[in-house]
Amino acid sequence: MNEQLKVLDQTYIANTYARFPVDLVSGSGSLVYDAAGKAYIDMGSGIGVTAFGIADPVWQEAVTKQLGKLQHTSNLYYTEPCARLAELLCKRTGMKKVFFSNSGAESNECAIKFARKYAAEKKGAAYSAIITLENSFHGRTLTTLAATGQAHYHELFQPLTPGFYHAPAGDLEAMKKLTEEHPTAGILIECIQGEGGVIPLEKPFVRALADFCAEQDILLMIDEVQTGNGRTGTLYAYQQYGVQPDIVSTAKGIGGGLPLGATLIGEKAQNVLGFGDHGSTFGGNPVCCAGAISILERMDEAFLASVREKSAYLFDALQGAKGVRSVSGMGLMVGVETLRPAKEIVSVCIERGVLCLTAKDKVRFLPALNIPMELLKQAVECFLAVCAEG
Ligand SMILES: *Cc1c(COP(=O)(O)O)cnc(C)c1O
Repeated sequence: MNEQLKVLDQTYIANTYARFPVDLVSGSGSLVYDAAGKAYIDMGSGIGVTAFGIADPVWQEAVTKQLGKLQHTSNLYYTEPCARLAELLCKRTGMKKVFFSNSGAESNECAIKFARKYAAEKKGAAYSAIITLENSFHGRTLTTLAATGQAHYHELFQPLTPGFYHAPAGDLEAMKKLTEEHPTAGILIECIQGEGGVIPLEKPFVRALADFCAEQDILLMIDEVQTGNGRTGTLYAYQQYGVQPDIVSTAKGIGGGLPLGATLIGEKAQNVLGFGDHGSTFGGNPVCCAGAISILERMDEAFLASVREKSAYLFDALQGAKGVRSVSGMGLMVGVETLRPAKEIVSVCIERGVLCLTAKDKVRFLPALNIPMELLKQAVECFLAVCAEG
């Protein structure tokens, strides 16, 4: 690693990130290269962002073509890429309207605004509570921190946005009790708690929760920032749970590597926000949207089946392997509980040319969805060798 770059970064960049000693300069697909030319197999894809890998040629062409025409214009005018992307998202999900932003946190903020206004108009302003799950993660803004059900993120930043309550995952009775104590606008969940340790929710719980929300006219909001856009082997994870949410928020992989957030609004709330109720200067940027179209258009049934196949290989190879305690997740979103400390494994893997992530005390894999089988196998072999050495 270039020591001068390390000093420069540590001098001038805010101290919020504990970086690994790797300086990445380029890549191609699921291989990334550091300044010395060393290659790494990318099992993290920038935390589930580069859905088709680095410098994917189809995505790159869509982005550069749009970049040469119009890079930005504001939301005062019509542009084709954002309208076409919204159509694509609605047709693939049955949702009715889309609001575009630039990140996962913003896509959740927008969802919460829709829920609060919906409930205020239908039931009264007192119905403002948003219930989320313990151990959830919904973002870093002060409102999405309040939504995040992990106290250690909250401690230094009080007071957070009021009106957020957390129920244990899987406990419908606790959830019902919270809605009785606090007049509720919406319930926000991740189908798989990503930052919380790659923990999928049980299907019966999610279905019962959806029924309860429908019965009570509480909006069911699903945070698909990490699980969305093909990551779990369907376009959105909720599609494997047999529920139809009222609002879906997403970001990360949708833009293929450019910042883009999307909040998808279903039938019930589609017309709740009106002119001036919400906005974003960069939201729906034509370059980001042109790239996103090139990503989502290729996520057809055959492609999603290939994600599920790679997932089956991954689970098979990891489960029961030496040094592996348990494997969790869906699709190409996988958490591995290891006997050796996860951080140590990630460091050794870096030395040997494989980039992995952690989630809580697990090693987490979020490779590009089109990672070649050969590279996936090589990365798994390297990881398992490191696990077995402990
Ligand atoms: C990453 C993540 C977010 C926050 O996204 P940002 O783009 O960092 O704001 C929100 N929810 C979930 C489930 C995430 O994984």
